[in-house]
Amino acid sequence: MTIEDQVPLSRFTTLGTGGPARWFAKPETADELAEALEWASERELSVAVVGLGSNLLVADQGVDGLVLKLGGELASVEVEGETLQAGGGAPLAVCLHRARAGSLGGLEFACAIPGTVGGGVWMNAGAYGGEIAGVLERALVSDATGVGWQTPAELGLEYRRSSLLPGQVVAQAEFRLRPRPVEEIKATVAEMQAARKAAQPTNKRTFGSVFKNPDHELSAGRMLEACGLRGFRIGGAQISPRHANFIENADGARSAEAIALMVEARRRALDEFGVELEHEVQLLGPIALPSAEERV
Ligand SMILES: Cc1cc2nc3c(=O)[nH]c(=O)nc-3n(C[C@H](O)[C@H](O)[C@H](O)COP(=O)(O)OP(=O)(O)OC[C@H]3O[C@@H](n4cnc5c(N)ncnc54)[C@H](O)[C@@H]3O)c2cc1C
Repeated sequence: MTIEDQVPLSRFTTLGTGGPARWFAKPETADELAEALEWASERELSVAVVGLGSNLLVADQGVDGLVLKLGGELASVEVEGETLQAGGGAPLAVCLHRARAGSLGGLEFACAIPGTVGGGVWMNAGAYGGEIAGVLERALVSDATGVGWQTPAELGLEYRRSSLLPGQVVAQAEFRLRPRPVEEIKATVAEMQAARKAAQPTNKRTFGSVFKNPDHELSAGRMLEACGLRGFRIGGAQISPRHANFIENADGARSAEAIALMVEARRRALDEFGVELEHEVQLLGPIALPSAEERV
């Protein structure tokens, strides 16, 4: 495994923004992952993982630490009986495909989520009434101090969050699925994908939901739409004209412009609805969302 320097992270995010990783490695086995974590620990470097970058906003200045992208064995998928075992770097789409081939249901909701198993566990990703916590049996978590299996309760999975900490890497996960006829799985997936296509800008560069849905009768998208933000643009970043809880890279956007849109959106939601929206997108590097009262 080579450790490269100054690798642009924009190519690893679905929004297509973000500066370089100071250090970057692609471990493919548990041993290589341990080696990379030890290498960073000896140099007192922070460690972060990118999955498919589908809920990630990386600072334009880049990330001054070691960024990992799991590959090889750490991105493979196996089905045994009713258990699906996957590396943290495995795309959820591949997991769904393998489950369907084995006539196993439970992961259909993942057709809506363009991320990896590791990112899915970190975010407790979910859609259409399903979520990772509902099918996850356990996850193998590695950090500089060692490696161990954790149950969903130990992972602290809640609505779009886990209690995992920076530097902890989901190396593997086991899902408990249930037998389901392939035709039924296909029909459910087709229905979910059609609903998704009808409501969201699926053909644009975005990072999925910007904000979590608040405890309010309106979803974050409806609230921002009511604030008149559909199509609102700052530089190359724009709030989707199709769905106001998405930010699109309309033309050479920078992460700072996406942050500026998020600040404006939070300020308007606070002014008009008294709601302080919490961001769902994960921020990496020296990048932060100022409070809802501040303008940029
Ligand atoms: C069009 C679109 C639609 C979407 N729809 C949904 C939806 O319906 N429901 C939903 O929940 N999400 C949705 N998302 C968001 C996103 O796909 C999920 O949050 C997904 O789980 C992120 O996975 P990822 O691999 O891309 O993670 P990344 O975006 O790469 O990373 C997200 C976070 O996970 C961490 N991470 C990634 N891999 C690991 C690992 N192996 N170990 C430890 N930490 C890790 C990262 O460090 C980061 O903090 C959507 C995104 C897009 C672009």
